[in-house]
Amino acid sequence: ISEPEFQSAVDYIKKHDDFLIVSHVQPDGDAVSSTLAVGWLLSCLGKKYVMVNEGPIPRRMSFLWHADQIVDLSALPLSRTYQHVICVDCADFKRVGTTKQYFAEDAVLLNIDHHPTNDAYGAVNVIVPGAAATAEILFDLIARVGVELDQDAATAIYTGMLTDTGGFRYSNTSPKVMSIASKLLEYGIDGPWISEHLLEQMTYPQLRILSIALNKLQLSEDGKLAWVSITDADMQAAGAIHEDLEGIVNYPRNITGVEVGMLFKVINDQAVKVSMRSAGKVDVAAVAQSFGGGGHVRAAGARLEASLEEAVAAVVERVKQEL
Ligand code: 5GP
Ligand code: MN
Ligand code: MN
Repeated sequence: ISEPEFQSAVDYIKKHDDFLIVSHVQPDGDAVSSTLAVGWLLSCLGKKYVMVNEGPIPRRMSFLWHADQIVDLSALPLSRTYQHVICVDCADFKRVGTTKQYFAEDAVLLNIDHHPTNDAYGAVNVIVPGAAATAEILFDLIARVGVELDQDAATAIYTGMLTDTGGFRYSNTSPKVMSIASKLLEYGIDGPWISEHLLEQMTYPQLRILSIALNKLQLSEDGKLAWVSITDADMQAAGAIHEDLEGIVNYPRNITGVEVGMLFKVINDQAVKVSMRSAGKVDVAAVAQSFGGGGHVRAAGARLEASLEEAVAAVVERVKQEL
């Protein structure tokens, strides 16, 4: 990250007031944690802000500072628009979903993200593809603003980094990640509890939907691709909600010899969400981008306007080209 980009972000935050903080649809741990870390920073600076998401925050994130204050716009619309919008963990403008209806027509966006596919849609852009999580960028940003972390903020940042590195295991677990994690633990946060709560514990519906998904596991003839698909009927049979799908895509990817694991989730008759995980050879961000999505080399996703059968055929074909 170049110094000027960071300085522009610091200036943006210090100069303005009355912010809208948004993250991506179906928020993951990094999206929620980053939303809260920005809210925490603004509250330290005595600024006004509202934190929102298109939909509900995963229940297991509710232990985080002020998680209950992130407005679920599907349940509670806002009454006005905002001039200053801070987008975190959103690789492109589409990812903000319906939150965009609360952006003023001439809104000035601050885009803070770590996806290499980020297209710099903000007026100010802090894009750090080398960061494991958007929360990691916020650790640096908060330091540059000159605010001292507390246990609440440290817990949020740790959570974003923990979840986007799969528990400090994926290839994005850099020396810097471990060094920041070490500093965060010095604030007295309960690292083992956060790991147990987010990465080990499973609700019954979560295990049921995993079981249903694994029953439908598909492997390509060469053994290099594996995938599962989940329909509405599956979700109902398991009593599962969207957040229960977190982590399922790792199972096909974990098969020895598999290069790309995929999860296809039916959204409706004409739309399917695909999640992809790569063992390292295939750049799944490039595959996702060719379907209008994005992400990281080893973890990416896209939404296809297609039936399940069409989506599976198209993505499998496209991934095979990359092998
Ligand atoms: P997941 O498969 O867990 O939903 O997402 C994996 C990674 O790909 C995340 O970094 C996520 O932000 C990104 N991603 C997932 N779906 C999309 C999408 O539809 N568009 C873009 N641009 N990125 C996505
Ligand atoms: Mn994310
Ligand atoms: Mn992220």
